Amino acid sequence: MKTEFGTYGGQHVPPPVLKALAELEQAFEAAKQDPSFKEAYRYYLKQYVGRQSPLYYARNLTETLGGAKIYLKREDLNHTGAHKINNTIGQILLAKRMGKKRIIAETGAGQHGVATATAAALFGMECEIFQGTTDMKRQALNVHRMELLGAKVTGVSQGTMTLQDAVDYAIGKWIERLDDTYFLIGSAVGPHPYPSMVRYFQKIIGEEAKQQIIDQENTLPDYLIACVGGGSNAIGLFADFLEESSVNIIGVEAAGKGLKTKDHAATMTLGKPGIIHGMQTKVLTEADGTISPVYSISAGLDYPGVGPEHAFLEETGRVTYTSATDQEALDAFYRLSKLEGIIPAIESAHAIAEVIKRAPTLPKDNIIIVNLSGRGDKDVGEIINLKNKAARLSRG
Ligand SMILES: *Cc1c(COP(=O)(O)O)cnc(C)c1O
Repeated sequence: MKTEFGTYGGQHVPPPVLKALAELEQAFEAAKQDPSFKEAYRYYLKQYVGRQSPLYYARNLTETLGGAKIYLKREDLNHTGAHKINNTIGQILLAKRMGKKRIIAETGAGQHGVATATAAALFGMECEIFQGTTDMKRQALNVHRMELLGAKVTGVSQGTMTLQDAVDYAIGKWIERLDDTYFLIGSAVGPHPYPSMVRYFQKIIGEEAKQQIIDQENTLPDYLIACVGGGSNAIGLFADFLEESSVNIIGVEAAGKGLKTKDHAATMTLGKPGIIHGMQTKVLTEADGTISPVYSISAGLDYPGVGPEHAFLEETGRVTYTSATDQEALDAFYRLSKLEGIIPAIESAHAIAEVIKRAPTLPKDNIIIVNLSGRGDKDVGEIINLKNKAARLSRG
């Protein structure tokens, strides 16, 4: 099988889907060559999403840590509060161009479901979101959001009743109506061309950041840091810098309760080559080869696979992958909130945790750009619960 990223990528799907993927690839390649498509994508990113997002010098965090200068790429300021909307706008425009009338998507925590339902509402498309029933209970507010936006949310009660089963279920539903339905994948994962397509629609993050750091500092950064779930905000920041050999690039996965426990989602660190959701990549599996249940405090990083390009970038050594525990992410969450007045998504707090470890070890003239992939309002309730639980435990 042809693979796009070294030995990673490919199209591990049933034959009817292969045909739909070929149609999708053709439409995507044609759209990339069409100036009016690019113009529409740029128009909605500017006028609807609110791009460009600022590259903000975090002076208080920098001075407190006492090392490298830290810049935050503010994807949290986008409409709907994260980077995910960049991709859903791009893919919906593509779906429209292909004459599709119906959008389906998988979602875990509901963030991608909300971004998809938002774009579907904007373009008047029918929208159905598949979400594990366990996740629907945990993320009731996002279910209401999707419904307010006009989407139908269908519960998936097979397997673990979480994201990994919602993806398989959505692929099954896609096969039933390939002719009028567009399957909108939310991260840089899945069969070709999705990983490349999601990268294309997210690389605006790094393109902007590059120009912004040159404007503000007249040089390239020394480090880029981003959290990695499926890997879309990370590849979005990294893509335009991969050829710049002076730039060190770091992806941060969720180490959950620790890499020595089973409760983590550190696919790059502890996973092995395997197949999941139509792609060859790195996967967390059990001794018998079945896919591991994964865990992280952050629902958005809670995925047993990873985008195939990241598996490749690790193998070539271009990007270094590390991890942050729940506790480290929580500390970073509190620290950024207090020091900068910015409450980060708990996913993004994993990237901040790496900054907190690394910045103090670097000279003051070094520059770090960290991707603040989303805002933390969605996490406040959960974090208050954790705090109350810890307080009860300490009182005995
Ligand atoms: C979904 C999400 C992520 C993880 O997804 P990637 O595809 O790895 O970027 C990270 N941050 C936020 C705020 C998210 O909503």
